[in-house]
Amino acid sequence: MVKKKKSLSKLKEEAWSLFSARLKERYADDEGNVRCFTCGAVMKLNTTNCQGGHYLSRGAYPGLMFHPDNSRVQCYRCNCHLHGNTVEFRIRLIEEIGLERVEALEAQRHVQVKLTRSDYEKMIEELKNNSNT
Ligand SMILES: [Zn+2]
Repeated sequence: MVKKKKSLSKLKEEAWSLFSARLKERYADDEGNVRCFTCGAVMKLNTTNCQGGHYLSRGAYPGLMFHPDNSRVQCYRCNCHLHGNTVEFRIRLIEEIGLERVEALEAQRHVQVKLTRSDYEKMIEELKNNSNT
């Protein structure tokens, strides 16, 4: 029997959902509470309100979708209604990692990253093995 191969976009979504899950775990406390990076609202892990957000949006800057400096936990309001709450995102990102790294990230925003099927598969494997829970 031939197994149907997952499409590239499916692999990308799978990688993103694991990437985002690891991110949320990293910022959550022992009770499973995590703060929105940009407004400070407290959220429960594994709820639709608790999302992985981007400073430079994945739609406009797909090459930075998996960049660790570009992604933080956000609430639904900041991520969706406020489109990432970018101004606040930048201020807090500078507080956390410093202006130099934020500028380095911004300088890469038009980088083209072409990930192949095996890149995604490798990433998924690594993210699965990296669970802190
Ligand atoms: Zn928020």
